[in-house]
Amino acid sequence: MGRKCGACGEEGHTARNCKTTEEERRLAKLPAPTKIHISLGDGRLCQSEEAAEWPPHWLNDDMAKTLPVCQECQELYKERFNRELELRPVDEV
Ligand SMILES: [Zn+2]
Ligand SMILES: [Zn+2]
Repeated sequence: MGRKCGACGEEGHTARNCKTTEEERRLAKLPAPTKIHISLGDGRLCQSEEAAEWPPHWLNDDMAKTLPVCQECQELYKERFNRELELRPVDEV
């Protein structure tokens, strides 16, 4: 015992019988997101081509709301709707 699974890093099983799927493994290796873009149905406001996929734990709202909103998206939002974007409070944890 004590051996870690080569696929997911957890103890108690091996990569051979690991339940982690290929897809999950791929997603887990994605770089952490650095900011949130604003999407309005027709894509991101800033047209960023940045990868849209996030590692699974970043999809958790508590994690996601620690990220800053893309500055460019905020500016464009203001231009388009003539009002400030209402940001979710980040510091009430
Ligand atoms: Zn595993
Ligand atoms: Zn953006």
